[in-house]
Amino acid sequence: MADYVAPVRDIRFALDLVGLDDLFKYPAFAHVDAGSVDDLLTEYGRFSAEVFAPINRGGDKEHSVVLPGTAEVRTPTGFRDAYQQYVSAGWGSVPFDPAHGGGGFPWLVAIAMQEMLTSSNMAFSLCPLLTQGAIEALSHHGSEELQEIYLRKMVSGEWTGTMNLTEPQAGSDVGALTSKALPAADGTWRVFGQKIYITYGEHDMADNIVHLVLARIPDAPAGTKGISLFIVPKFLVNADGSLGARNDAKVVSLEHKMGINASPTCVMAYGDDGDGAVGFMVGEPNTGMRSMFTMMNNARLSVGLEGLAIAERAYQDAVQYALERVQGRPVGGAVGDAIVGHPDVRRTLLYMRSHIEAMRGLTFMNAKALDMSRHHPDADERAHALELADLLVPLSKAWCTDLGVELTSMAVQIFGGMGFVEETGVAQHYRDARIAPIYEGTNGIQALDLIGRKLPMRGGAVVLDLLDDIEATDARLGAAVGEVRRATTWILGHAAAPIESMAGATPYLRALATTVGGWMLARQAQAAVGDDAYSAAKRSTATFYFDNILPTVSGLCAQAMAGSHALMSVPAEALRSQ
Ligand SMILES: Cc1cc2nc3c(=O)[nH]c(=O)nc-3n(C[C@H](O)[C@H](O)[C@H](O)COP(=O)(O)OP(=O)(O)OC[C@H]3O[C@@H](n4cnc5c(N)ncnc54)[C@H](O)[C@@H]3O)c2cc1C
Repeated sequence: MADYVAPVRDIRFALDLVGLDDLFKYPAFAHVDAGSVDDLLTEYGRFSAEVFAPINRGGDKEHSVVLPGTAEVRTPTGFRDAYQQYVSAGWGSVPFDPAHGGGGFPWLVAIAMQEMLTSSNMAFSLCPLLTQGAIEALSHHGSEELQEIYLRKMVSGEWTGTMNLTEPQAGSDVGALTSKALPAADGTWRVFGQKIYITYGEHDMADNIVHLVLARIPDAPAGTKGISLFIVPKFLVNADGSLGARNDAKVVSLEHKMGINASPTCVMAYGDDGDGAVGFMVGEPNTGMRSMFTMMNNARLSVGLEGLAIAERAYQDAVQYALERVQGRPVGGAVGDAIVGHPDVRRTLLYMRSHIEAMRGLTFMNAKALDMSRHHPDADERAHALELADLLVPLSKAWCTDLGVELTSMAVQIFGGMGFVEETGVAQHYRDARIAPIYEGTNGIQALDLIGRKLPMRGGAVVLDLLDDIEATDARLGAAVGEVRRATTWILGHAAAPIESMAGATPYLRALATTVGGWMLARQAQAAVGDDAYSAAKRSTATFYFDNILPTVSGLCAQAMAGSHALMSVPAEALRSQ
């Protein structure tokens, strides 16, 4: 397996493509400039390659484990030390509010950094990722007092965060959760219940863990309208900020998974000892789901980015292997030439590379839209940017994570039999990638969000305006845009019979995302004007995508408009093999 090399030049290229520099004009980012971003990316790229990447394989083999007879989790060798280095260097604080000790950098820069962290070690990256989500929820909805106690330590990374939504009967349907919180005389709450699949719910890398837990208070309305959000710290915090008593929030067991083995995925019990875990309400009663929505865009974008990051990591391995492995004489080549000379191998590599560049363009554009929606000085521009960000989030999440699985599988294929053998390490990327289409809202749910909530924005004008912009960029995008426009109009026209459009939501999402990806590559080709090898490669990658990937949009749109009859007309029992 090749050593991970942070693709800083490619990342910088994509940042320029989406116009990072525009953000420096906003008062919020007046202290940031291109030079500081360059230095940050170069240094973090080095740090990721030298600190996180070397413990990726060991983490996969060793797993995190519950120490027998305790409620403590030991992370794999090197994880604790790597995390301490991460905290000491202050990497986790880069995008957060300077008022809480953050660096105040654009989210777009944080996303670029996150790509390198996740490529180098996806299982490790989940700890900072979950902390990030908890910081965001607390920053937007926590009282001043809660922010004062928790935020600085979380922004610095000294304390980590978790998100506790899922219960055995409440997965995609979060509204079915039954964990409860009872009021205590002192104004705090006592939380009871079991949560499953809680990422980094317990570990040994930080002094305290700040759990954000969704639960119901007495007499709460049914469903998502009756959910409240609580902070339940592993250790209670004394008035002077020091750590106090151990709270009744404990890991019961860890899941045995097919990938991200180093990441402890915990079954958590709250209040098992009897009196309840001490909790503090975040925001108003019964507004927990609304609070979750605030951080959902960022969280979903970050999970989408996992697809890109793990595909990039697998691609680096695949290229290296293709350049070294000798097997058969490539047509027109010499004896001893490597398999990279075979057109089919080259096609596989170009399929991977072109999608990686398209995904980077999409996710970075999405991150910039989020920055604009929060910090653009003009209110109309902020609203416009939020619409774009909202539209792109399900594409970033679902398209990139589906591609993460597809492209890591292709990397295994490039390795032939050696890909199926664990020693080469490429199989780990495939196993790790498989979770991303499942968590943070399954990709099926993302497709429903796209057609049910996002397409109807401004009566369809948000998506149709975007399609106009895409079409105006490059004539080669015209056919795909025409197909997607037709499918979009068809879906919007079936609002009265949603089952028809729901049936084709997933192929529709892929068609739209593939077209947006083509747009990013068209802009890439226009930006790569030099006659050097780097620019030529950027242009030829775009040409490959136009010739080989964009034509699939037509078939996807046909699926999107096929309707529900063939899917739903037979009774469910008849689906069994007989
Ligand atoms: C490794 C790992 C880490 C995780 N980390 C966390 C965490 O930190 N915190 C946390 O709270 N949770 C976490 N989760 C839980 C994760 O978010 C859920 O697994 C996910 O939301 C899906 O829920 P489920 O597993 O119950 O699947 P289900 O909801 O049962 O879904 C099963 C299938 O049915 C489909 N489906 C369900 N409902 C619909 C619908 N309405 N329309 C169309 N299709 C539908 C789904 O798309 C899916 O294909 C994690 C899970 C894993 C495996």
